[in-house]
Amino acid sequence: MSDPGPSSSLAPGPFTQRESTIAAFRYADADIILRSSDKVDFYVHRLILSVSSPVFHDMFSIPQPPPDVDSPRLPIIDMAEDQHALKIVLGFFYAAACLPPLEDFDDVKIALNMVRKYDLPGPVPFLKHRLQALAIHTPERVFAVAWLYQWKDMALVAARHTKMGQSIFGPSYFPEFQDVPAEAFWKLEEYHQRRRAAVGVVALLWNHWLGPDQLDFPIAGEAGRCDCVRNGRGVVYYARPSNLPTSAVAGWWTDHMKRLYSALREDPRPDIVTSTRLLMPTINEAQACDVCEQDAIVAMDAFNEIFKAEMERRISEVGAMCFPPARACSLIASSPFVSSSTLIPPSEIFPEEKIAGSRRSSGDDQKPEARSAPAH
Ligand SMILES: [Zn+2]
Repeated sequence: MSDPGPSSSLAPGPFTQRESTIAAFRYADADIILRSSDKVDFYVHRLILSVSSPVFHDMFSIPQPPPDVDSPRLPIIDMAEDQHALKIVLGFFYAAACLPPLEDFDDVKIALNMVRKYDLPGPVPFLKHRLQALAIHTPERVFAVAWLYQWKDMALVAARHTKMGQSIFGPSYFPEFQDVPAEAFWKLEEYHQRRRAAVGVVALLWNHWLGPDQLDFPIAGEAGRCDCVRNGRGVVYYARPSNLPTSAVAGWWTDHMKRLYSALREDPRPDIVTSTRLLMPTINEAQACDVCEQDAIVAMDAFNEIFKAEMERRISEVGAMCFPPARACSLIASSPFVSSSTLIPPSEIFPEEKIAGSRRSSGDDQKPEARSAPAH
């Protein structure tokens, strides 16, 4: 027998990390035992499970198996889940202290499978927040899971975190893509390519969107004030519209823009703009000029903010193109675990998508339907 029997107290006592949750599910007034596939018993209450889960309700409605000889008081139900998965799903029914921390991606996947299997929409907002945090480190896997559950907002968050250079995935293998259609792979590739192109344009054709009044000295050179311009290290550009006067910028800054373009081709995420690896050569080059040296860092900080804002705008446009609002509505309406408040609003992450976010706040969000293939 795997378990000695129920404890004499309802309150879980001190126990080791390994046994903590199992011990927590050893309630003295339990009226049923759930036995995991690896033969660990959980003493729980039928009413608590039935009230929140129609699946458990139906399970307990059918005649129960005969009592186990070792635990004659209580019926036993053999579960398909192992003890780890049972800990997770039962944690959602009982106190939050019973729930594993779910800091691991695989645990969140298990939790999502459990809440879907047992029809528990309540924990979904919490699990989506966990996924959102994990997207920073495992964006491809989170993207696949988001696609599986048809969470457009989460898919977009994950897609934005993908680093991918020339090839989409490289040698890495992500098992989650076994569970989604090839369209998901294609969509991520499309987003990746479009984002890389859009970001590259921002860096390469900076004079098409960046006006001279947006650049501070010493990036914006002033004849006679800075050796960079006087000694021919400055360059001239034409800001749009073309009838504006020409302006000079420091040569060390145009060198920076070339490095920035190359860096963003490899990793088109906004954080790259302010990376030390990118900025150090620029600052060193600026310090070769006595005048530029004094204000280069401050001017670069201001410029980086402007550049990142433009990047975010272009990336949001790509996101809206690859995951358009009309598509999002149909995806979300067909998702079994959708609530409009389950995720940090897209408008807080992508301000430009405020309209798209508001469009999907209709009552359609509340319809619990079976998941279907993504609509077009
Ligand atoms: Zn200078």
